[in-house]
Amino acid sequence: MSRALVIGAGVAGLTAATALAERGAKVTVVERSRELGDNASWLAGGMLAPFCEGESAPLSVVETGKGAIDWWARRVPGVSRTGTLVVTPPRDSSEIERFAARTRSHERADEKRIAELEPDLAGRFRKGLFFASEGHLDPRAAMRALLKALERRGGELRFGENGEGVAAGAGLVVDCRGFAARSELPELRGVRGEMIRVRTREINLKRCVRLLHPRIPLYVVPRGGGEYMIGATMIESAEKGPVTVRSAIELMSAAYALHPAFGEAEILEMSADVRPAFADNEPRVVERDGRIFVNGFYRHGFLLAPALAARAADLVFARAAAKKARLVEA
Ligand SMILES: Cc1cc2nc3c(=O)[nH]c(=O)nc-3n(C[C@H](O)[C@H](O)[C@H](O)COP(=O)(O)OP(=O)(O)OC[C@H]3O[C@@H](n4cnc5c(N)ncnc54)[C@H](O)[C@@H]3O)c2cc1C
Repeated sequence: MSRALVIGAGVAGLTAATALAERGAKVTVVERSRELGDNASWLAGGMLAPFCEGESAPLSVVETGKGAIDWWARRVPGVSRTGTLVVTPPRDSSEIERFAARTRSHERADEKRIAELEPDLAGRFRKGLFFASEGHLDPRAAMRALLKALERRGGELRFGENGEGVAAGAGLVVDCRGFAARSELPELRGVRGEMIRVRTREINLKRCVRLLHPRIPLYVVPRGGGEYMIGATMIESAEKGPVTVRSAIELMSAAYALHPAFGEAEILEMSADVRPAFADNEPRVVERDGRIFVNGFYRHGFLLAPALAARAADLVFARAAAKKARLVEA
């Protein structure tokens, strides 16, 4: 059995640990925070929307992300397969044509179809696109579920531990520190993301809804019990600090444009964190200085981490097998 040490308990670390443990490795995860959270993964919308992301992401992201929804549904409860509805205000209807031209696996949704899909949006939008095969999950519940499953397989998670200095003796090291790995991966950049969590009983959306807007594109992800995640800003900055007034105004007014009931919603949380990204916005598994880095998830952590975790696990087992062969030879 191989041993592996995973540094970081964001979505990259927890999926890598899961892939390794499922193949029989003895896995330890070290996380510098005292509990799950306080990272980019905790703030994610949890959209599993490869086709919508194809609007701005390369084809490889669409192709790699297609398997994510099944991966998550096999491992964590509550994965929603209700699809994504994309709408646009009437004055920006050309946005829908642009979005449709850049994406696939969607059906056109006119006013009637929008009302069938989301009765609470009836009469508000005339043009939309429906991506039936997409879905979403609650990132916090999903990460807790992965952690529990890992513990059931004999994995260990050590909170409040800095993994930076950890190396030999622990087996292979899989470094999933997100933006904190920039010291070893100087090509990483930070893309700040801000989100708001609200609660309202006045609107009941069943699926993730994206509002196309030339200045403030928005998505709203239902979390159940009247709770919604409203996201997210994309700012070229590695500044983690609190949500700015401007971002809060923009996100909330876009939500209000989607449905005025959001104007009366209770604000439960406003948070910001930094997405780790490479220049091409595509994640990588990189071997450097004796470590395997899994990083650069940009806005696709939940969408792409399962596939990258499998690649990282392949590499760990290949390195372990090579080491064993060298020992046998000696
Ligand atoms: C607002 C927002 C919305 C998003 N929405 C989506 C979405 O809908 N769908 C999607 O797929 N993606 C989404 N993303 C992107 C996704 O959240 C990120 O791509 C992903 O979280 C990156 O995960 P990570 O594990 O690499 O980094 P992180 O989540 O930042 O985790 C890194 C972990 O490493 C730990 N760490 C750092 N240094 C050390 C150390 N020295 N020792 C031990 N531990 C250490 C940190 O404490 C942290 O827990 C969103 C991001 C944001 C900010």
